[in-house]
Amino acid sequence: MGDVVPDSDEVARLRAEVRAWLEANAPAKGSAADFSAAHIVSAATREEFEAREHAALDATRRWQRRLFDAGWAARSWAEEYGGRGGAPWEAEVVAEEQAGFGVSTKMLAIALEMVPPVLIHHGTHEQRLTHLPRIARGEEAWCQLLSEPDAGSDLTNVQAFASPVGGSGGGAAGAPEGGWTVTGQKVWTSGATSADFALLLARTDRDAPGRAGVSCFALRMDQPGVEVRPLRQISGAYHFNEVFLDDARLEPGQLIGSLGDGFAVLRTMLASERAAIGGGTSARSFAQLRGMAEATGRNHDPHVRQQIARAYTRERLLDLVGERVGQIPMGGSVAKLSYSEHARLTSSAALEILGPSATVLDDPTSQPWLDRFLFAPGLRLGGGTDEIQRNTIAERGLGLPREPA
Ligand SMILES: Cc1cc2nc3c(=O)[nH]c(=O)nc-3n(C[C@H](O)[C@H](O)[C@H](O)COP(=O)(O)OP(=O)(O)OC[C@H]3O[C@@H](n4cnc5c(N)ncnc54)[C@H](O)[C@@H]3O)c2cc1C
Repeated sequence: MGDVVPDSDEVARLRAEVRAWLEANAPAKGSAADFSAAHIVSAATREEFEAREHAALDATRRWQRRLFDAGWAARSWAEEYGGRGGAPWEAEVVAEEQAGFGVSTKMLAIALEMVPPVLIHHGTHEQRLTHLPRIARGEEAWCQLLSEPDAGSDLTNVQAFASPVGGSGGGAAGAPEGGWTVTGQKVWTSGATSADFALLLARTDRDAPGRAGVSCFALRMDQPGVEVRPLRQISGAYHFNEVFLDDARLEPGQLIGSLGDGFAVLRTMLASERAAIGGGTSARSFAQLRGMAEATGRNHDPHVRQQIARAYTRERLLDLVGERVGQIPMGGSVAKLSYSEHARLTSSAALEILGPSATVLDDPTSQPWLDRFLFAPGLRLGGGTDEIQRNTIAERGLGLPREPA
């Protein structure tokens, strides 16, 4: 998410071209092949969840590859990193147009939307060359190893520790020549079972207070010393995990940014994460709510009509915030807060329209809404809680006094 898309003939031409390609290649929203909510996976058992998650990830990878082959993926990245060298607004146009179809790349959101800004702003040329082209083709999935049992909203408490191998200092950006081994416990890690790499926040200096001794790394997930244990959620999903690190290896070239400057990297990542969550489309369900009200004959009920009108209004507001997210102070937080609220209200409205039939599990109409209803509370926590977004908007966006510590 970045600049406002300019209003010009050039934009109109690209928009028409993207839309024509999508009309020929993408399933319509609400059709049987619609996979725009594929990332919201629920299941009765772990085996069933893993099979569904695998299928959703496969569909996402295939779609990303088709976007890449058609020239729509990584539209604004430099060509040497697998992009098309286009202006920032070109990627925005592609994203905006996709939102109207039954497609999604959310299963790869960390790799596609959060890691690239981090590598572009803080990574080395080699790190960009290694990861960005594979990410653009949908070949590399990432997760985030940030939260720990005692570090969530306040990540200065991170305790996972990366010890230098063979003495400290010496290498580029202060990295020890032998790299590090990292030990500690992470929790609530989304997508850890399928990730190839993790953006890891770990302490590299036990004597430096708070954020000063924390660094950021690209950790390879498929290695000894990385154990992933899925956690079950209210929906029956195993969306997130505990991750135990026991002397896992980090090469010197896996340090992102400077040693001890992990919070600068984290700030970039969190800003893009909030904008990415806020720009989500799976809760954009005004049209589906209206269709359901018509199908159930409740479209003349004044209360139902109010709910649908409110959903429409919220979606228009989300569009307007999305277009200006780079201009509004703390725009990512505004978008994320508005989106999590919209997801909660819209899924509640859907269950109200469905009435008692909302309690029927495994029904093709009610189950997707139940999944969204149970997914919505997590949206208010992941990527920074609603309270943290409000504090961020108040203090850094509006310049209000800081909350007492
Ligand atoms: C669906 C989902 C996916 C997630 N994915 C990941 C992931 O991939 N990787 C990862 O590292 N983490 C992930 N998380 C974890 C998430 O980032 C944390 O849950 C979140 O940052 C809150 O941290 P916490 O759970 O430790 O709660 P705490 O920080 O302990 O907060 C508890 C409560 O206190 C409130 N609070 C805390 N501090 C303040 C304050 N200063 N002012 C006002 N209120 C405050 C919070 O809003 C919250 O209500 C995920 C969480 C969810 C729900």
